[in-house]
Amino acid sequence: MTIVDVRTPDPKKFIKGATGDWEIVIGMEVHAQVTSEAKLFSGASTEFGKDPNDNVSLVDAAMPGMLPVINEECVRQAIRTGLGLKAEINLKSVFDRKNYFYPDLPQGYQISQFKQPVVGEGKILLDMPEEQVEIGVERLHLEQDAGKSLHDQHPTMSFVDLNRSGVALMEIVSKPDLRSADEAKAYLTKLRTILRYLGTCDGNMDQGSMRADVNVSVRRPGGEFGTRCEIKNVNSIRFVGQAIEYEARRQVGILEDGGAIDQETRLFDSVKGETRSMRSKEEAHDYRYFPDPDLLPLEFTQAFVDDLAQHLPELPDDKKARFISDYGLTAYDADILVAEKASADFFEEVAGGRDAKLAANWVINELFGRLNKEGKDLATSPVSAGQLGAIVDLIKEGVISGKIAKDLFEIVWTEGGDPAKIVEERGMKQVTDLGAIEAIVDEIIGANPEKVEQAKAKPGLLGWFVGQVMKQSQGKANPQAVSDMLKQKIGLE
Ligand code: ADP
Ligand code: MG
Repeated sequence: MTIVDVRTPDPKKFIKGATGDWEIVIGMEVHAQVTSEAKLFSGASTEFGKDPNDNVSLVDAAMPGMLPVINEECVRQAIRTGLGLKAEINLKSVFDRKNYFYPDLPQGYQISQFKQPVVGEGKILLDMPEEQVEIGVERLHLEQDAGKSLHDQHPTMSFVDLNRSGVALMEIVSKPDLRSADEAKAYLTKLRTILRYLGTCDGNMDQGSMRADVNVSVRRPGGEFGTRCEIKNVNSIRFVGQAIEYEARRQVGILEDGGAIDQETRLFDSVKGETRSMRSKEEAHDYRYFPDPDLLPLEFTQAFVDDLAQHLPELPDDKKARFISDYGLTAYDADILVAEKASADFFEEVAGGRDAKLAANWVINELFGRLNKEGKDLATSPVSAGQLGAIVDLIKEGVISGKIAKDLFEIVWTEGGDPAKIVEERGMKQVTDLGAIEAIVDEIIGANPEKVEQAKAKPGLLGWFVGQVMKQSQGKANPQAVSDMLKQKIGLE
């Protein structure tokens, strides 16, 4: 592929070497397991966690004479993903055989797509703290997963588990447009969010349903692209960041010593935090790609694509824009809420017909803060959207103060129940009765004559008086009413 450099070098991302600055260049190849009950070319189940070789059909075991039959659901999922990546969809694509030998590959080849993938160029937008970056997607193609070899179960034997053999993968290849470990992590996070919104891959890296191969090279800022190394199968977003940092420094070290980078495939050792050589890079011709004679080209109509496009869910970028324009949220809050569809839906349930900013504040700061602290998520949240909405209503209507609302949240979190009823039964209502407030205000003023004199010269002391009254009322006095009355009585108006 001819590479066009679309990025302007940014000194903030440079690595400082002994001989000057270096720029990191990164491209990602992500393998995403297609969400589908059956495999790409057989009816065998894709269920995770079954006993070895439970999910294997004769096709997956490559028994002689078996023929692959394309699973249309996987094709639909690949097209939907392409649409979600704003990519060009190819109405005709071709399945090729990628030939290599490995015990967990009984066919002796992987069915993949080489020259004509189902999805062409697309893009992913990254909202970095200081800028928005567009990362090019080169292509998305469908291919089969291989099985798994198990070498460590018995001292002298190896085993092969074909449960994954033939499972549908989408390989999503980025352009080398990423320029830092942070951008690479943001890219994976955003891609995973999009896949999850679409329901085309569950994005669980710890179960292997999303795996990243990370291509890293370094160059002088804005200069010629350097030789890259490919770090295979990194299985967490954090490790991707670590692998890039390590690998870029390793390459800078070699180049500054006058050496050259060998194009090779490397592994990331997450225990040592370093990459090490696995094999020299194979070239496409090593695989003797050719069109699979058992399969017709994959063809569908534009109408088929249009229909899928019409039924796509709202995607994170659009949702974020809508949260900002319709609810008046900040970009920062909108980002947090749309990161997962479940949080966005939860927020909309709380915000419906209410003060949306107040709702966002309670969802993000109180609820998410607490869920994080206790290692829970929305699915296991003790406080429902209905309950949180009721708390927001009570604050908005002035029934309770913000401070009491936190106590109320605590009660709902630990004991459950209807927030309005709890407020009623436990006498938590905010005191807006001016007579009751006045009694406390008079008491505090009477007890602190010297502070009153000081406050006349230094109005900042008003806050101290408000605090005293609030304390005396056990947080139940309406702070605005308290402040107004104090100003008037001390004579600050
Ligand atoms: P191959 O077909 O050999 O795997 P590709 O051209 O398809 O190579 O690129 C594979 C990945 O490597 C892509 O994600 C691409 O963006 C990335 N890449 C290509 N050149 C570089 C480079 N010089 N530095 C970093 N990444 C690169
Ligand atoms: Mg490749």
